[in-house]
Amino acid sequence: MAGPYLGNAKNTMDVIRRYDFAFQKRFGQNFLIDENILKKIVESAEISGDDCVLEIGPGIGTLTQYLASDAGKVIAVEIDRNLIPVLHDTLKEWNNVEIINQDILKTDLFSLAAEKNDGKNFKTVANLPYYITTPIIMHLLESNVPVDSITVMIQKEVAERMQAEPGSKDYGALSLAVQYYSEARVIVKVPCTSFIPRPKVESEVIHLKKYKEPPVKVSDRDLMFKIIRASFNQRRKTLANGIKNASGLSYTRENVEDVLKTCGYSASVRGEQLPLSDFARITDLLKMRYS
Ligand code: SAM
Repeated sequence: MAGPYLGNAKNTMDVIRRYDFAFQKRFGQNFLIDENILKKIVESAEISGDDCVLEIGPGIGTLTQYLASDAGKVIAVEIDRNLIPVLHDTLKEWNNVEIINQDILKTDLFSLAAEKNDGKNFKTVANLPYYITTPIIMHLLESNVPVDSITVMIQKEVAERMQAEPGSKDYGALSLAVQYYSEARVIVKVPCTSFIPRPKVESEVIHLKKYKEPPVKVSDRDLMFKIIRASFNQRRKTLANGIKNASGLSYTRENVEDVLKTCGYSASVRGEQLPLSDFARITDLLKMRYS
């Protein structure tokens, strides 16, 4: 079997020219041309011959070649139909790759896992299109789709939001979701020179290992995330005012202030000051006393 050969500017440009491929900005197409970064992504995803990898957005197949060289199987979901003939060509030497021409946001990942991997967990790996980073990651974390880990190239700012701690300006619903569902680790910072075309932002590869058991217990997870979203929807508001105004929640300001007092907070506390464990406690108390 041939080794991966697309992780450099020359071979990437050869493919682009051969197919007269026109980059589509709306699909967030920035192709990797840095072999060291590609190797780091695959290494940090800890892929072995037993694994089935779900790759989101294979592009011209650069990362796919590296993944397919290590994994048992790769399912690559690409939205741009102009890339499908390119992928069939660049991946022809790897017989363990299946290319699916679909929008990942409209793909039923439960059926995909059942059909392609006997319902077992995928490892998800991607150089994500930046315009849908947050919805994809939230979906992979929240929906219980069978996924062990998520290793993704994302915009540096989003990586920082994911790992932010209470009190920092980046702290929000995304930080809390990532911390509840997974252990996050930054693998490597990636300059814009590692891509064709060059993105305007810096990137980072981040590895999220999904917890088997979340680090905090809460009686109603969905309610906790509704409360979290409500408290960050209106950042300048106090937590009590944010929850009071939120659609889908039926607590009064007095209910929230009562519970905050039990937790040792003043009535004017804001969502961005609270750690995950306190959101869990507030949820439990609101549910117990006022639902
Ligand atoms: N993996 C390749 C690489 O590293 O060179 C390409 C990465 S490029 C940043 C993102 C890829 O995702 C593009 O090929 C783009 O067409 C594809 N894409 C964009 N939106 C998508 C979607 N909703 N579903 C599936 N693929 C998508």
